[in-house]
Amino acid sequence: MLTFFPTPYEDELWYGIITRYHIRSGNTYWKYTIQELFPEIKGYPRLGDTMPNTSMQIIAAQLPENVLSLRDCALRHSLFPFRMRFQPLEKKREYLQEFLDGENMQPKFLFTTKRNGAEMPLRSCPQCAVEDVKQYGEPYWHTEHQIASLPLCPKHLCRLVPLPRQNTMSIGQQLILPPKNLPDAVFAATETEYSLTEALHYMYTLPYETSPNLLSENLSTTIENAGFLEDGNILRQSWDVQRLYTALTERFGADIVVRCFGKHITKAHARRLRRYEIYSTEEYALLAVLLDIPPLAFFSGIALPLELDMKMRELACQGQVYTKARAAQLLEIREDQLLPYAKRFGIRPFWVQSGKPCADDKRQTYSVEIRLSAQEKEELDAYMAAHNMDVYGHALRYFMQKNIGDWKNNHTNERSFNNEN
Ligand SMILES: [Zn+2]
Repeated sequence: MLTFFPTPYEDELWYGIITRYHIRSGNTYWKYTIQELFPEIKGYPRLGDTMPNTSMQIIAAQLPENVLSLRDCALRHSLFPFRMRFQPLEKKREYLQEFLDGENMQPKFLFTTKRNGAEMPLRSCPQCAVEDVKQYGEPYWHTEHQIASLPLCPKHLCRLVPLPRQNTMSIGQQLILPPKNLPDAVFAATETEYSLTEALHYMYTLPYETSPNLLSENLSTTIENAGFLEDGNILRQSWDVQRLYTALTERFGADIVVRCFGKHITKAHARRLRRYEIYSTEEYALLAVLLDIPPLAFFSGIALPLELDMKMRELACQGQVYTKARAAQLLEIREDQLLPYAKRFGIRPFWVQSGKPCADDKRQTYSVEIRLSAQEKEELDAYMAAHNMDVYGHALRYFMQKNIGDWKNNHTNERSFNNEN
């Protein structure tokens, strides 16, 4: 029984709990504490790992559930829920169960260590440290603060302070306590840093079971709304990965983008991102900020509107006649893209169709000339400008069709009314 084992604090990092055990045990050296806690492990267990690991299984087995459960170790004292955020629910359940059953998860979590590379320095918030001392009498390492891309403390919105590493040893091999005297909190931050902090914190605090919603396809939609689709096959909707990568770098700086996405985004990677098959939560947080969508959109079943679809539907509903060039101009697409987009959205072409064979009685062979006063022309121009019309013939045809249509309808109604009586 581990008599001195401390009760973990709210959101305390697993490594931090062990360092507090060390202080309470009165052991002179860190090495002795490690030997005492993990007599069967040669060398050092992976205590600095932010994912669930064997050291948790060894300790939890020696403690009563009400002091520390293995489930709590994984869900409250590691970045497991955060890193698993974009995994499907079945996989989350399966991984958690396997860990609770005592399986060594290290090979399974290689995808996180591979991308995140070397251990990052431990980080803390000067304001949290002050509050912790007030509440508990000591500062402690917070789990959330260890998300490498998190610029600010989500509670105080001040900069997180990394503790410079004195040597090349891994965190688990040494005793690193949170500094008692942190520099004064720095509150200066950019809009991007505030947004990124908010997005990461949102994804960190969702319930473990929350996974992305595959049906709403909100990432694909916002990528398209923001103009990051490759110019080409409209149905394939592949991303312009180079432009996207450049935009990310310009927004967040190269360091963070390289750490999260690697040195570039491949087409295959983009396809997997789109289907939520990339398990790096930080990549999605960066995309949410860049595309200016609430991170909730990834998890919600409510589909965000595709702007081009909406605009095209609106034009089609107005019942006006547009030239192909005008329709394309209003939608800010090329003329040759009109038809493929209309097909994709299931909208009937609403612009002038040329070159189609026409029945004799439909062929337009009569021409009518009308003369307008300066005032009439001015009024007609103003009407057309307000209704996005650019050809007089189309405007006059529109008036004619509308009025004759109304007249014909009334006429038919009158006749049927008379017949009934
Ligand atoms: Zn704080």
